[in-house]
Amino acid sequence: MQTIDCVVAGAGVVGLAVARALALSSREVVVIEKADAIGTVTSSRNSEVIHAGLYYAPGSLKARLCVEGRRQLYAYCAEHTVGHRRAGKLIVASEPGQTDGLRAIEANAKRCGVDDLALLTRAEAESLEPALRCAGALLSPSTGIVDSHALMLSLRGDAEAAGASFAFLTGVAGAAIEADGIRIDTRDANGETFAVEAGAFVNAAGLDAQAVASRIEGFPRDLIPRQWLARGNYFALPGRSPFSRLIYPVPVEGGLGVHLTLDLAGNARFGPDVEWIDSVDYTVDPGRSAVFYEAIRRYWPDLADGALQLAYAGIRPKLSGPGQPAADFVIQGPADHGVGRIVNLFGIESPGLTASLAIADHVAELLYPT
Ligand SMILES: Cc1cc2nc3c(=O)[nH]c(=O)nc-3n(C[C@H](O)[C@H](O)[C@H](O)COP(=O)(O)OP(=O)(O)OC[C@H]3O[C@@H](n4cnc5c(N)ncnc54)[C@H](O)[C@@H]3O)c2cc1C
Repeated sequence: MQTIDCVVAGAGVVGLAVARALALSSREVVVIEKADAIGTVTSSRNSEVIHAGLYYAPGSLKARLCVEGRRQLYAYCAEHTVGHRRAGKLIVASEPGQTDGLRAIEANAKRCGVDDLALLTRAEAESLEPALRCAGALLSPSTGIVDSHALMLSLRGDAEAAGASFAFLTGVAGAAIEADGIRIDTRDANGETFAVEAGAFVNAAGLDAQAVASRIEGFPRDLIPRQWLARGNYFALPGRSPFSRLIYPVPVEGGLGVHLTLDLAGNARFGPDVEWIDSVDYTVDPGRSAVFYEAIRRYWPDLADGALQLAYAGIRPKLSGPGQPAADFVIQGPADHGVGRIVNLFGIESPGLTASLAIADHVAELLYPT
């Protein structure tokens, strides 16, 4: 049986960032990915927004890792020529009653260490974005967009250059905690099984993180949090974007409201909404466009009938259900579960892309405290 320092399950943006961080600190790393390529699941079904870190509970992992991850991500993208743009975003109050909501976001952001926001009057906001109709807005200059696939390719390249290796079409079928590490049983696409002996294990399996944790013999079941699934559907707007910044309404339960994001080519898309579902299914119901038209016209009344085109969906691996307060990321290390060098990453929904580099540092510190 092969023995290595660390096995990482999952080659989404988080698994890749973790593999890179560990490989750069001279750990021998093998990434096991059940799909045939990197980043085919949630990491390629999102808004590609570099979040500033405005909404999360101050002191939470989401707040801390988003702010630190954003800082690292801009620097990383600049250094590694990964496509990105500090586009800026406007959070818009559609009616005067919502401007208190903007002030609350500004106050919360300050407590999270984000102090570059500016409250804009209606005239100021509409002069920045002439197509916009609002009662006021909050400008976040440090929100941006990133080419998530280029980012993942770069992270993989760094990891491989530092000695990490990848096994695709290979899933974690089981695992067992041992005296000096963990045995991981893998299964490939042909049903062939192979066991790897590792000193440490990182479960970055995204939507499957709970399933993978439950396959670890000896891992306390009561520490595996329940997962809820919330689909986020997107509709695209063909042609030239009417806005040059990202446009967000005041947030709604479970998500950030139907917002407009841009890709690096300047194309606009709207979403994601929040649709609670029971199982993983990426089918977008065209009927949901009615809600999109209504929500978007609150800030962009010129949206023409029939302009929206069905785009794609992503699924949030949530740790809180409908009506419950938003949950934080749960990143369990040896001190949390007491069963060896294992890190489980649960509920890595937004801002997981923004936070990925900071999450990787956090995981490395949990496994190998400095
Ligand atoms: C609709 C939506 C919009 C979002 N928008 C943003 C945004 O704008 N900005 C932002 O910062 N974040 C955003 N996010 C969050 C971000 O996309 C995620 O936090 C991030 O992609 C999670 O990455 P991951 O590597 O944890 O998971 P994933 O990308 O899901 O990767 C997990 C990997 O594990 C693999 N795997 C699963 N089971 C096994 C197994 N048994 N063995 C081996 N491998 C396995 C999967 O195949 C997959 O490749 C959004 C999320 C959603 C759903």
